[in-house]
Amino acid sequence: MKKRISLHIKGVVQGVGFRPFVYNLCQKLNLSGFVLNDPQGVKIEVEGEAKKISRFLKELKTKAPSASYIEKIEKKEIPLKEEKKIFIKESVFDKEKSVFICVDLSICDDCLKELLSKNNRRYFYPFINCTQCGPRFTIIKDVPYDRPFTTMKKFKMCKTCLGEYEDPSNRRFHAQPNACFCCGPSIKLIKDLKNRKVERISLKETKKILEKAASLIKEGKILAIKGIGGYHLCCDAKNSQSVKILRERKQRPTKPFALMVDDLKVVEKYCFLNKKEKGLLLSKERPILLLKIKKEEPWMQAIAPQQKYLGIMFAYTPLHYLIFHFLKKYQKEPILVMTSANKKDFPLVKEEKELDQLKEFADYYLIHNRPIYLRCDDSILRVFKNKEIIIRKARGYTPLFLDFKVKKNILGCGAELKSTVSFAKNNYLVTSSYLGDLKNYANYQFFLETLAYYQKIFDFKPEIVAYDLHPNYLSTQYALSLKDVVKVAVQHHHAHLVSCLFEHGLKEKVIGVCFDGVGFGLDGNIWGGEFFVLDRKSFLRKAYFKYFGLIGQDKAIQEPGRISFYILYHILKEKVFDLDLEFLKSFKKEQLKLFSTLIKKKMYVLTSSCGRLFDCASNLLGLKNKVTYEAEAAILLEMVAGDFKGKKSRFDFQIKKEKDTYIIDWEPLFLEMLKEIKRKKNISEIAYKFHYTLAYIIKEICCKLERDCGLKEVVLSGGVFQNLLLLKETVKILEKDFKVYHPQKLLTNDGGVSVGQVVVANENI
Ligand SMILES: [Zn+2]
Ligand SMILES: [Zn+2]
Repeated sequence: MKKRISLHIKGVVQGVGFRPFVYNLCQKLNLSGFVLNDPQGVKIEVEGEAKKISRFLKELKTKAPSASYIEKIEKKEIPLKEEKKIFIKESVFDKEKSVFICVDLSICDDCLKELLSKNNRRYFYPFINCTQCGPRFTIIKDVPYDRPFTTMKKFKMCKTCLGEYEDPSNRRFHAQPNACFCCGPSIKLIKDLKNRKVERISLKETKKILEKAASLIKEGKILAIKGIGGYHLCCDAKNSQSVKILRERKQRPTKPFALMVDDLKVVEKYCFLNKKEKGLLLSKERPILLLKIKKEEPWMQAIAPQQKYLGIMFAYTPLHYLIFHFLKKYQKEPILVMTSANKKDFPLVKEEKELDQLKEFADYYLIHNRPIYLRCDDSILRVFKNKEIIIRKARGYTPLFLDFKVKKNILGCGAELKSTVSFAKNNYLVTSSYLGDLKNYANYQFFLETLAYYQKIFDFKPEIVAYDLHPNYLSTQYALSLKDVVKVAVQHHHAHLVSCLFEHGLKEKVIGVCFDGVGFGLDGNIWGGEFFVLDRKSFLRKAYFKYFGLIGQDKAIQEPGRISFYILYHILKEKVFDLDLEFLKSFKKEQLKLFSTLIKKKMYVLTSSCGRLFDCASNLLGLKNKVTYEAEAAILLEMVAGDFKGKKSRFDFQIKKEKDTYIIDWEPLFLEMLKEIKRKKNISEIAYKFHYTLAYIIKEICCKLERDCGLKEVVLSGGVFQNLLLLKETVKILEKDFKVYHPQKLLTNDGGVSVGQVVVANENI
């Protein structure tokens, strides 16, 4: 029996080879009808034997192009039309825009093969791509995703390219960035910034540039190289002298650099790599993956000082592969440093006119003339219990669409560190890339740039705006400056936890544990070691760490010794001056006197921040006196603890009840820790004990709250849970009695706050 069905497919189905896939599938199954792009996705009508149609429907889902994402299929049966063939029809676009934009994709295997095949017309062409690969999100200026609305508009396709572009059976059918040596973008290598204009060049000239670039890297030079979402600074990772120079120039003494490789064997030589990690490393998203070091090499100390992990990504553009190809003339297993090219507290450089910002860092610039429209950093992931945890969400992972029904348009402005923004409209929530720390003018401009971009692409006008309670955040000030919108302030840790509730589809009351750095509290103090009973709408603060003082506010974050001093002075009073501890020596005598005066006069900011307690423990163990990047002291504590192999034990602590709230007193903990430091106990053991104690505290409080409220589900969130050792121990201890959730696709750090804000606001209107 024959029948005809009409299908409407929504999701990421444009620009990913979906129509040719449908076309070929119909030919294979002998079905007639048509397929076309429309504003919401792809529309299909197919006709044929009922059995064939059901097979079509099955394969539509199971064999769809890997770059596509089907959000929804609407299906209905319609009268027969009796055509003979299958057609790809002209796209229909009206005013309404399709919002589903594909993420940027790494080069596919077919293109890689062509790139390195002498007889191919794109041999060594640095911009080879097809419907299965290449830039997307970062070149799109407007929707629908069509060449005139991308930064490829200025390149007119040559006859051969156009032929591919118009041939439904071709891999490059409607591949919007399609190009070749005759018609597409070119590269250029420059030493000074006088002439940044890029002219079209031949294969021969391209080859010469690539050879030169490779020889410069071999010589130890630092190159600024244009990628998909912006520039990288690149040098030979095994050349510690180059890495040292890069560190000096960037004034980045210790923060680890990301590495790039083009060979799995190289990764396996130096790092542990399981199947899951292998898959992620080679995925189309090509994130930076944090991998445990297997074999320490001297050069790693310059890359990631005192770390146990390396951040490694696989080459993802044709240009990356070509650089590796030419480097192999000199080195057997090249490894490159590939770090985001930006000035401290500035966004990533994406345009040639911004290159002056890199003058102090780079010796040479490998530029090209395919413009990047929206800058986008590399994403960072790690694997925990065989599942990925996203630490920085950017290239390959944004825009991320999540199902979420709202009646009004909601904007979540995020917080300050690692900021993001989120939007909810109709049936979805979309969250932006990593925007950096929103602390200065340059990054604030990027924040505004991103907001404007999303508002245009998604045709989004906020009706409700959700923001952080912290009055000094630029994101808060932005929200408050908006006119004709309903404003909803959301407490920082409530947003953190609700983001996790949302990710796991939780709608009922749960116990929430938020261990974080900084978050403005309802009482005006800085919260960060919090236990809530909460749902998506509201929360009750049920327990927290006893407040302690931050001497000199933000200074105490940069110099954790100030926290150590407060804590020890609180416990020991004037006796603290008699202690023989490393951290005390990092301050002058007069400074310490001043601190004690400030404490006596209560001139400090109060906090319950768990992140700061980690800083303090790290500092007491002599690991860090001056922090040069966020959470550095805490990360070192985790690394040192990772070395401990003995029997687990914990420090003492005390839980007091004040009215309905539990206060966790850290005094016994630090007193005992101090004794062990004085006895010169192994610092790995002390560091481990600190982690284990915190996991144990979480369990104790959760058990009390279970008794009080009868709740069995625990949600963990906040920046401190980026610490995998703490997460591992906490989950292990809790799992016996509770169902435990933690963020995976959405972020546990402040990048997750904007999602939580939107969800909380939606419940409160
Ligand atoms: Zn391809
Ligand atoms: Zn061409």
